[in-house]
Amino acid sequence: MMHIDIITIFPEMFQGPFSVSIIKRAIEKQHIAIQLHNLRDYATDRHKKVDDYAFAGGAGMVMLIEPVDRCISALKEKRQYDEIIYMSPDGLLLDQDLSNKLSLRKNLILLCGHYKGIDERIREHLITMEISIGNYVLSGGELAAAVLTDSIVRLIPGVLNDETSALSDSFQDGLVSPPSYTRPRSYKGWDVPEILLSGNESKIAAWKLDQSLSRTSIRRPEFFDKLKKNK
Ligand code: SAH
Repeated sequence: MMHIDIITIFPEMFQGPFSVSIIKRAIEKQHIAIQLHNLRDYATDRHKKVDDYAFAGGAGMVMLIEPVDRCISALKEKRQYDEIIYMSPDGLLLDQDLSNKLSLRKNLILLCGHYKGIDERIREHLITMEISIGNYVLSGGELAAAVLTDSIVRLIPGVLNDETSALSDSFQDGLVSPPSYTRPRSYKGWDVPEILLSGNESKIAAWKLDQSLSRTSIRRPEFFDKLKKNK
């Protein structure tokens, strides 16, 4: 079973995303164990301090190395980790390839920063990988860690009901998904494409591929160029 340990000063931020839908089911079915670790429990002083002013000034508090080190060390005593990941706006940009790779790992630690960030020595000495969920700045790493966890968990075999459904998602084959329709066939005169009602499986497959290709070329031209190169 895959193990994800998340280190955070706001464990309650994960309650929503992890207690519904696919992640909830994956936890119940024991495809994944997610443990939240409150960094404050590893603080050394009686005020449970986890951050301090930056040396040489500057706005914003910086998270202390000592509680982080103590927490990671305690976790490492229990199991071996494939990656110790810091969620960081300047990290490796998350994409489907990276989620696929991480979904094959056994044990991961995700460290969430907050405020101004974390003491650089944590990144230099304790972290093995840094991941960003996009080129924008969040208040903390918690939402980013929830996004990363979600994108990984749905790829673990057995998590999705229909085994093929992750495979047919956008990006999984380097293409975006074709459009989907459901009942009613006609709504306010807006009709479902006739071909999808034809029952002709090979024509439908060809139509879907054609839609995926044209959408990819318009919406993600950079993916399209990559596909052409790989051919
Ligand atoms: N001063 C930092 C930003 C700190 S934001 C800088 O300019 O790089 C506070 C925390 O939010 C960070 O420590 C990081 O853990 C998290 N964070 C913010 N934006 C993120 C993003 N796009 N992806 C992943 N984590 C992010």
